[in-house]
Amino acid sequence: MPELPEVEVVRRGLETWAAGRPVSGVEVVEPRSTRRHDGGAPAFESQLSGLRLAVPERRGKYLWVPLAAAGSTPDRALVAHLGMSGQLLVNSPGDPDPRHLRIRILLEGEGEGEGEDSGTALELRFVDQRIFGGLFIDALVPTSDRPDQLVPASVAHIARDPLDPHFDPDAVYQRFRRRRTGLKRALLDQGLISGIGNIYADEALWQARLHYARPTETLNRSESGRLLTAVHAVMVQALAQGGTSFDSLYVNVNGESGYFDRSLNVYGQAGRPCARCAAEGHQSLIVKDRFMNRSSAYCPRCQPVPRRARW
Ligand SMILES: [Zn+2]
Repeated sequence: MPELPEVEVVRRGLETWAAGRPVSGVEVVEPRSTRRHDGGAPAFESQLSGLRLAVPERRGKYLWVPLAAAGSTPDRALVAHLGMSGQLLVNSPGDPDPRHLRIRILLEGEGEGEGEDSGTALELRFVDQRIFGGLFIDALVPTSDRPDQLVPASVAHIARDPLDPHFDPDAVYQRFRRRRTGLKRALLDQGLISGIGNIYADEALWQARLHYARPTETLNRSESGRLLTAVHAVMVQALAQGGTSFDSLYVNVNGESGYFDRSLNVYGQAGRPCARCAAEGHQSLIVKDRFMNRSSAYCPRCQPVPRRARW
């Protein structure tokens, strides 16, 4: 499953290669990949053709490209659900089709661009082995906190993510206090704060020295701030390690990235010594609990189980 940093890499790639280009043709190879679009594949093909792609945007793991008719501002967006195995690739039109090609979108050259390839037609391809993902067109609606800013209606219930310039740590702290749940459940709740998957939650909780079952209403402002700072740092680090694939004519995401392989402190580290405790002269082994059909890894010494735990 792609996480926020992987989706951001795709967004940047699309911004580099696809933004500003008009759609000159659409071919839905697999109708199930447009099942979220009203009217299905034929409507998707006819409604997308002729529109211009604006600069792609992202909230959490949700990615969309605002769409505008000639001479107007965007009022709808092409929304990409990558699902478990979805990929967006930018290719030259003559390149061989990849396996599992589901949707082909032809992009005209920009005309006025400065890059040497900006006048060349390109092909944006949606590839999805398992067909859990898909593309659809959605109306843009004002966000609840900034009415001048638009998001697809299907994304409106998703909270801002920690990399969003308008992310408000104090608002998230208030939501933590009101929600009365376990801390990791809160971190994974896309309506409270978006873009945090299992790996990033475990790593951020370790950095902040907080246990995942801490009741959210017992957090104080400084603990909440420490945690949100840690979440931000973990994501920035993941982006720095993974943000290399977008400078070629190839945008790709498959969720199996190698981010973090050398820098994980708790995730996948059960049974190994906690690096922070070791540096402080103590011995403590990382443990792994079952949690929400997945797992939670933590250090029992520097992230002790709270007296009132909420599992
Ligand atoms: Zn420790």
